[in-house]
Amino acid sequence: MLICDEYLTPASLDEAFAAMAQHRGRSRIVAGCTDTLPWAREGRAGDVNIPVLIDVSRIPELNERRVDERRVRLGAATSIQSFLDDPALARALPAMPRCAVWFADDQIRVQATIGGNIVNASPAADATPCLIAHEAEVELAKNEGGKIARRRMKLADFVQGPSRTGLADGELLTAVECDALPGYGGSFEKVGHRRSLVISLVCLAVLVKLDAAGHTIEDLRLSIAGIGPRPLRLAQVEQFLRGQALSAGLLEQAADMPAPLVASRTRQEYRREVVRGFMLRGLINAAKRAGADPAALTPELEAAYG
Ligand SMILES: Cc1cc2nc3c(=O)[nH]c(=O)nc-3n(C[C@H](O)[C@H](O)[C@H](O)COP(=O)(O)OP(=O)(O)OC[C@H]3O[C@@H](n4cnc5c(N)ncnc54)[C@H](O)[C@@H]3O)c2cc1C
Repeated sequence: MLICDEYLTPASLDEAFAAMAQHRGRSRIVAGCTDTLPWAREGRAGDVNIPVLIDVSRIPELNERRVDERRVRLGAATSIQSFLDDPALARALPAMPRCAVWFADDQIRVQATIGGNIVNASPAADATPCLIAHEAEVELAKNEGGKIARRRMKLADFVQGPSRTGLADGELLTAVECDALPGYGGSFEKVGHRRSLVISLVCLAVLVKLDAAGHTIEDLRLSIAGIGPRPLRLAQVEQFLRGQALSAGLLEQAADMPAPLVASRTRQEYRREVVRGFMLRGLINAAKRAGADPAALTPELEAAYG
Protein backbone atom coordinates (compact mmCIF):
# COMPACT_ATOMS: atom_id res chain seq x y z
CA MET A 1 0.00 0.00 0.00
CA LEU A 2 1.10 3.54 -0.72
CA ILE A 3 1.08 5.88 2.24
CA CYS A 4 1.95 9.57 2.14
CA ASP A 5 1.96 12.24 4.85
CA GLU A 6 1.29 15.16 2.54
CA TYR A 7 -0.39 15.32 -0.87
CA LEU A 8 0.46 18.59 -2.59
CA THR A 9 -1.35 19.98 -5.64
CA PRO A 10 0.75 22.88 -6.96
CA ALA A 11 -1.18 25.37 -9.11
CA SER A 12 1.79 26.45 -11.24
CA LEU A 13 5.17 25.21 -12.42
CA ASP A 14 6.87 27.63 -10.00
CA GLU A 15 4.92 26.15 -7.09
CA ALA A 16 5.77 22.62 -8.24
CA PHE A 17 9.51 23.37 -8.45
CA ALA A 18 9.39 25.05 -5.04
CA ALA A 19 7.75 21.95 -3.55
CA MET A 20 10.26 19.68 -5.28
CA ALA A 21 13.16 21.73 -3.86
CA GLN A 22 11.66 21.88 -0.38
CA HIS A 23 10.96 18.13 -0.20
CA ARG A 24 13.97 16.89 -2.19
CA GLY A 25 14.73 13.24 -1.40
CA ARG A 26 11.38 12.63 0.35
CA SER A 27 8.88 13.32 -2.42
CA ARG A 28 7.61 11.85 -5.65
CA ILE A 29 5.86 13.38 -8.64
CA VAL A 30 2.49 11.92 -9.59
CA ALA A 31 -0.16 12.85 -12.17
CA GLY A 32 -2.98 10.30 -12.50
CA CYS A 33 -1.27 7.90 -10.05
CA THR A 34 -2.39 4.90 -12.12
CA ASP A 35 1.14 3.50 -12.39
CA THR A 36 2.28 4.68 -8.97
CA LEU A 37 -0.53 3.06 -6.96
CA PRO A 38 -0.24 -0.45 -8.51
CA TRP A 39 3.58 -0.22 -8.17
CA ALA A 40 3.15 0.05 -4.41
CA ARG A 41 1.02 -3.07 -4.14
CA GLU A 42 1.99 -6.20 -2.33
CA GLY A 43 4.35 -8.41 -4.30
CA ARG A 44 5.94 -5.47 -6.09
CA ALA A 45 7.23 -2.59 -3.97
CA GLY A 46 5.06 -3.65 -0.98
CA ASP A 47 4.21 -1.06 1.71
CA VAL A 48 5.75 2.21 0.68
CA ASN A 49 5.77 5.43 2.65
CA ILE A 50 6.55 8.43 0.49
CA PRO A 51 6.36 11.45 2.81
CA VAL A 52 5.25 13.91 0.10
CA LEU A 53 3.41 13.26 -3.15
CA ILE A 54 3.45 16.20 -5.56
CA ASP A 55 0.50 15.94 -7.94
CA VAL A 56 1.26 17.98 -11.09
CA SER A 57 -1.99 17.15 -12.88
CA ARG A 58 -3.72 20.41 -11.95
CA ILE A 59 -1.03 22.76 -13.25
CA PRO A 60 -2.79 24.70 -16.06
CA GLU A 61 0.26 24.64 -18.37
CA LEU A 62 0.37 20.84 -18.19
CA ASN A 63 -3.27 20.72 -19.29
CA GLU A 64 -2.93 23.01 -22.31
CA ARG A 65 -3.40 21.62 -25.81
CA ARG A 66 -2.83 23.23 -29.18
CA VAL A 67 -3.67 21.63 -32.51
CA ASP A 68 -3.09 23.05 -35.96
CA GLU A 69 -2.71 21.48 -39.40
CA ARG A 70 1.01 20.72 -38.91
CA ARG A 71 1.80 20.40 -35.21
CA VAL A 72 0.18 19.30 -31.96
CA ARG A 73 1.22 20.39 -28.49
CA LEU A 74 -0.07 18.30 -25.62
CA GLY A 75 0.45 19.29 -21.99
CA ALA A 76 1.93 16.38 -20.04
CA ALA A 77 -1.25 16.02 -17.97
CA THR A 78 -3.40 15.36 -21.05
CA SER A 79 -5.53 12.37 -20.18
CA ILE A 80 -5.79 9.30 -22.39
CA GLN A 81 -9.57 9.91 -22.44
CA SER A 82 -8.97 13.21 -24.30
CA PHE A 83 -8.15 11.30 -27.46
CA LEU A 84 -11.68 9.88 -27.45
CA ASP A 85 -13.42 13.11 -26.43
CA ASP A 86 -11.66 15.77 -28.50
CA PRO A 87 -12.41 15.56 -32.27
CA ALA A 88 -9.51 17.91 -33.13
CA LEU A 89 -7.05 15.55 -31.42
CA ALA A 90 -8.62 12.50 -33.06
CA ARG A 91 -8.24 14.13 -36.49
CA ALA A 92 -4.64 15.17 -35.96
CA LEU A 93 -3.54 11.91 -34.30
CA PRO A 94 -5.54 9.23 -36.15
CA ALA A 95 -4.13 6.18 -34.31
CA MET A 96 -4.61 7.65 -30.83
CA PRO A 97 -8.38 7.08 -30.44
CA ARG A 98 -7.81 3.42 -31.34
CA CYS A 99 -5.05 3.24 -28.76
CA ALA A 100 -7.24 4.98 -26.17
CA VAL A 101 -10.24 2.74 -26.67
CA TRP A 102 -8.20 -0.33 -25.67
CA PHE A 103 -6.38 1.50 -22.89
CA ALA A 104 -7.40 0.25 -19.43
CA ASP A 105 -11.04 1.09 -18.62
CA ASP A 106 -13.28 4.17 -18.44
CA GLN A 107 -12.07 5.26 -15.00
CA ILE A 108 -8.34 4.75 -15.54
CA ARG A 109 -8.44 6.48 -18.95
CA VAL A 110 -9.71 9.67 -17.30
CA GLN A 111 -6.92 9.61 -14.70
CA ALA A 112 -4.04 8.26 -16.80
CA THR A 113 -1.86 10.92 -18.43
CA ILE A 114 0.50 10.85 -21.40
CA GLY A 115 3.26 12.26 -19.18
CA GLY A 116 2.89 9.36 -16.75
CA ASN A 117 2.77 6.82 -19.57
CA ILE A 118 6.02 8.20 -21.02
CA VAL A 119 7.99 8.70 -17.77
CA ASN A 120 6.95 5.33 -16.37
CA ALA A 121 8.71 3.90 -19.46
CA SER A 122 7.12 0.47 -19.41
CA PRO A 123 7.89 -1.65 -22.48
CA ALA A 124 4.10 -2.21 -22.50
CA ALA A 125 3.17 1.51 -22.61
CA ASP A 126 0.62 2.11 -25.35
CA ALA A 127 0.60 5.89 -25.85
CA THR A 128 4.39 6.14 -26.25
CA PRO A 129 4.71 4.17 -29.55
CA CYS A 130 1.74 6.08 -31.00
CA LEU A 131 3.43 9.38 -30.21
CA ILE A 132 6.78 8.14 -31.52
CA ALA A 133 5.06 7.44 -34.85
CA HIS A 134 4.21 11.16 -34.88
CA GLU A 135 7.91 12.12 -34.45
CA ALA A 136 7.14 13.37 -30.95
CA GLU A 137 9.52 15.47 -28.89
CA VAL A 138 9.25 15.89 -25.13
CA GLU A 139 9.67 19.25 -23.44
CA LEU A 140 11.43 19.08 -20.07
CA ALA A 141 11.64 21.93 -17.57
CA LYS A 142 13.55 22.65 -14.38
CA ASN A 143 14.18 25.58 -12.11
CA GLU A 144 17.60 27.11 -12.65
CA GLY A 145 18.41 29.99 -10.32
CA GLY A 146 14.78 31.07 -10.04
CA LYS A 147 14.08 30.84 -13.77
CA ILE A 148 12.39 27.99 -15.63
CA ALA A 149 14.84 26.42 -18.10
CA ARG A 150 13.45 24.18 -20.82
CA ARG A 151 15.00 21.65 -23.16
CA ARG A 152 13.69 19.22 -25.74
CA MET A 153 14.46 15.63 -26.67
CA LYS A 154 13.08 13.22 -29.23
CA LEU A 155 10.64 10.92 -27.44
CA ALA A 156 12.31 7.92 -29.10
CA ASP A 157 15.60 8.89 -27.38
CA PHE A 158 13.99 9.96 -24.10
CA VAL A 159 12.67 6.44 -23.39
CA GLN A 160 15.87 4.48 -22.78
CA GLY A 161 14.61 1.14 -21.42
CA PRO A 162 12.24 -0.29 -18.81
CA SER A 163 11.71 2.47 -16.18
CA ARG A 164 14.65 4.43 -17.65
CA THR A 165 14.31 7.83 -19.30
CA GLY A 166 16.32 10.96 -20.00
CA LEU A 167 14.51 12.86 -17.21
CA ALA A 168 17.15 14.63 -15.10
CA ASP A 169 16.96 15.19 -11.37
CA GLY A 170 14.63 18.09 -10.59
CA GLU A 171 13.01 18.05 -14.03
CA LEU A 172 9.36 17.78 -15.02
CA LEU A 173 7.99 16.65 -18.33
CA THR A 174 5.82 19.61 -19.32
CA ALA A 175 4.62 18.83 -22.85
CA VAL A 176 4.83 16.64 -25.91
CA GLU A 177 4.98 18.17 -29.39
CA CYS A 178 4.46 16.08 -32.48
CA ASP A 179 3.40 16.12 -36.14
CA ALA A 180 -0.29 16.51 -36.87
CA LEU A 181 -1.21 13.94 -39.51
CA PRO A 182 -4.80 14.74 -40.60
CA GLY A 183 -5.83 12.70 -43.64
CA TYR A 184 -3.72 9.70 -42.61
CA GLY A 185 -5.49 6.43 -41.84
CA GLY A 186 -4.58 5.18 -38.38
CA SER A 187 -4.64 1.84 -36.64
CA PHE A 188 -3.45 0.51 -33.31
CA GLU A 189 -3.04 -3.22 -32.72
CA LYS A 190 -2.50 -4.66 -29.26
CA VAL A 191 -2.40 -8.05 -27.59
CA GLY A 192 -1.92 -9.12 -23.99
CA HIS A 193 -2.70 -11.90 -21.57
CA ARG A 194 -6.44 -11.23 -21.28
CA ARG A 195 -9.26 -9.59 -23.17
CA SER A 196 -10.12 -6.66 -20.90
CA LEU A 197 -7.86 -4.27 -18.97
CA VAL A 198 -5.10 -5.74 -20.99
CA ILE A 199 -1.47 -4.68 -20.60
CA SER A 200 0.25 -5.01 -23.98
CA LEU A 201 2.62 -7.84 -24.78
CA VAL A 202 3.04 -6.32 -28.21
CA CYS A 203 1.48 -3.21 -29.70
CA LEU A 204 1.83 -1.51 -33.05
CA ALA A 205 0.83 1.96 -34.25
CA VAL A 206 0.33 2.44 -37.99
CA LEU A 207 -0.34 5.68 -39.90
CA VAL A 208 -0.78 5.60 -43.67
CA LYS A 209 -1.25 8.36 -46.24
CA LEU A 210 -2.32 7.35 -49.76
CA ASP A 211 -2.52 9.31 -53.00
CA ALA A 212 -5.89 10.64 -54.14
CA ALA A 213 -6.63 7.45 -56.12
CA GLY A 214 -6.03 5.27 -53.04
CA HIS A 215 -3.27 3.32 -54.82
CA THR A 216 0.14 4.64 -53.80
CA ILE A 217 1.57 4.88 -50.30
CA GLU A 218 2.71 8.50 -50.09
CA ASP A 219 3.82 8.30 -46.48
CA LEU A 220 3.59 5.97 -43.53
CA ARG A 221 4.71 5.78 -39.93
CA LEU A 222 5.16 2.57 -37.95
CA SER A 223 6.11 2.22 -34.31
CA ILE A 224 6.13 -0.93 -32.22
CA ALA A 225 6.48 -1.74 -28.50
CA GLY A 226 6.81 -4.92 -26.47
CA ILE A 227 9.41 -6.64 -28.66
CA GLY A 228 12.39 -5.24 -26.76
CA PRO A 229 13.30 -2.93 -23.90
CA ARG A 230 12.05 0.24 -25.62
CA PRO A 231 9.59 1.21 -28.34
CA LEU A 232 11.00 1.31 -31.86
CA ARG A 233 10.18 3.16 -35.05
CA LEU A 234 10.23 0.70 -37.98
CA ALA A 235 12.19 3.03 -40.26
CA GLN A 236 13.40 0.34 -42.68
CA VAL A 237 9.89 -0.93 -43.30
CA GLU A 238 8.67 2.63 -43.76
CA GLN A 239 11.38 3.25 -46.34
CA PHE A 240 10.51 0.01 -48.14
CA LEU A 241 6.82 0.90 -48.42
CA ARG A 242 6.99 4.65 -49.09
CA GLY A 243 6.14 5.46 -52.74
CA GLN A 244 5.03 1.90 -53.57
CA ALA A 245 1.71 0.87 -55.08
CA LEU A 246 -0.50 -0.78 -52.49
CA SER A 247 -0.89 -4.53 -53.05
CA ALA A 248 -1.41 -7.63 -50.95
CA GLY A 249 2.00 -9.00 -51.99
CA LEU A 250 3.75 -5.80 -50.93
CA LEU A 251 2.10 -5.81 -47.51
CA GLU A 252 3.03 -9.47 -46.99
CA GLN A 253 6.67 -8.68 -47.75
CA ALA A 254 6.61 -5.73 -45.34
CA ALA A 255 4.99 -7.84 -42.62
CA ASP A 256 7.97 -10.21 -42.58
CA MET A 257 10.54 -7.46 -42.14
CA PRO A 258 10.37 -6.68 -38.38
CA ALA A 259 10.80 -10.32 -37.22
CA PRO A 260 14.60 -10.01 -36.61
CA LEU A 261 13.96 -7.04 -34.30
CA VAL A 262 12.15 -9.20 -31.73
CA ALA A 263 14.55 -9.15 -28.78
CA SER A 264 12.27 -9.62 -25.78
CA ARG A 265 13.45 -11.97 -23.07
CA THR A 266 10.40 -14.24 -23.30
CA ARG A 267 8.11 -15.76 -25.92
CA GLN A 268 10.11 -14.63 -28.94
CA GLU A 269 8.53 -17.08 -31.41
CA TYR A 270 5.04 -16.08 -30.31
CA ARG A 271 5.91 -12.39 -30.63
CA ARG A 272 7.31 -12.89 -34.15
CA GLU A 273 4.02 -14.44 -35.23
CA VAL A 274 2.03 -11.68 -33.57
CA VAL A 275 4.16 -8.98 -35.19
CA ARG A 276 3.57 -10.44 -38.66
CA GLY A 277 -0.19 -10.60 -38.09
CA PHE A 278 -0.28 -7.09 -36.61
CA MET A 279 1.71 -5.67 -39.51
CA LEU A 280 -0.80 -7.08 -41.98
CA ARG A 281 -3.85 -6.12 -39.96
CA GLY A 282 -2.50 -2.69 -39.04
CA LEU A 283 -1.47 -1.83 -42.59
CA ILE A 284 -4.75 -3.07 -44.09
CA ASN A 285 -6.91 -1.24 -41.55
CA ALA A 286 -4.92 1.99 -41.78
CA ALA A 287 -4.91 1.83 -45.60
CA LYS A 288 -8.69 1.27 -45.66
CA ARG A 289 -9.20 4.28 -43.36
CA ALA A 290 -6.92 6.32 -45.63
CA GLY A 291 -9.25 5.57 -48.58
CA ALA A 292 -7.54 2.58 -50.22
CA ASP A 293 -8.95 1.42 -53.52
CA PRO A 294 -10.65 -1.90 -52.53
CA ALA A 295 -9.16 -3.55 -55.64
CA ALA A 296 -5.65 -3.02 -54.24
CA LEU A 297 -6.21 -5.50 -51.39
CA THR A 298 -7.19 -9.10 -52.00
CA PRO A 299 -10.39 -10.31 -50.29
CA GLU A 300 -8.46 -13.32 -48.88
CA LEU A 301 -5.94 -11.12 -47.13
CA GLU A 302 -8.64 -8.77 -45.87
CA ALA A 303 -10.71 -11.69 -44.58
CA ALA A 304 -7.71 -13.11 -42.74
CA TYR A 305 -6.36 -9.88 -41.25
CA GLY A 306 -8.56 -6.83 -41.87
C1 LIG B 1 -5.98 -1.24 -14.32
C2 LIG B 1 -4.91 -0.56 -15.13
C3 LIG B 1 -4.91 -0.73 -16.51
C4 LIG B 1 -3.93 -0.10 -17.28
N1 LIG B 1 -3.96 -0.25 -18.63
C5 LIG B 1 -3.02 0.34 -19.40
C6 LIG B 1 -3.05 0.19 -20.81
O1 LIG B 1 -3.97 -0.41 -21.38
N2 LIG B 1 -2.04 0.77 -21.53
C7 LIG B 1 -1.03 1.46 -20.93
O2 LIG B 1 -0.13 1.95 -21.63
N3 LIG B 1 -0.99 1.62 -19.58
C8 LIG B 1 -1.94 1.08 -18.81
N4 LIG B 1 -1.91 1.24 -17.45
C9 LIG B 1 -0.80 2.00 -16.85
C10 LIG B 1 -1.08 3.51 -16.59
O3 LIG B 1 -2.46 3.76 -16.51
C11 LIG B 1 -0.47 4.40 -17.67
O4 LIG B 1 0.91 4.18 -17.85
C12 LIG B 1 -0.72 5.90 -17.39
O5 LIG B 1 -0.58 6.64 -18.59
C13 LIG B 1 0.19 6.48 -16.33
O6 LIG B 1 -0.14 7.85 -16.16
P1 LIG B 1 -0.37 8.47 -14.71
O7 LIG B 1 -0.54 9.94 -14.89
O8 LIG B 1 -1.45 7.77 -13.99
O9 LIG B 1 1.04 8.13 -14.04
P2 LIG B 1 1.58 8.25 -12.50
O10 LIG B 1 1.31 6.97 -11.82
O11 LIG B 1 0.96 9.49 -11.90
O12 LIG B 1 3.08 8.50 -12.81
C14 LIG B 1 3.85 7.50 -13.43
C15 LIG B 1 5.33 7.92 -13.40
O13 LIG B 1 5.52 9.10 -14.17
C16 LIG B 1 6.07 10.15 -13.38
N5 LIG B 1 5.42 11.38 -13.86
C17 LIG B 1 4.10 11.56 -14.13
N6 LIG B 1 3.91 12.78 -14.67
C18 LIG B 1 5.12 13.37 -14.75
C19 LIG B 1 5.57 14.64 -15.24
N7 LIG B 1 4.74 15.54 -15.78
N8 LIG B 1 6.90 14.93 -15.16
C20 LIG B 1 7.77 14.03 -14.63
N9 LIG B 1 7.40 12.83 -14.16
C21 LIG B 1 6.09 12.50 -14.23
C22 LIG B 1 5.76 9.78 -11.94
O14 LIG B 1 6.73 10.31 -11.05
C23 LIG B 1 5.84 8.26 -12.00
O15 LIG B 1 7.18 7.86 -11.92
C24 LIG B 1 -2.91 0.67 -16.65
C25 LIG B 1 -2.93 0.84 -15.25
C26 LIG B 1 -3.92 0.24 -14.52
C27 LIG B 1 -3.93 0.46 -13.02
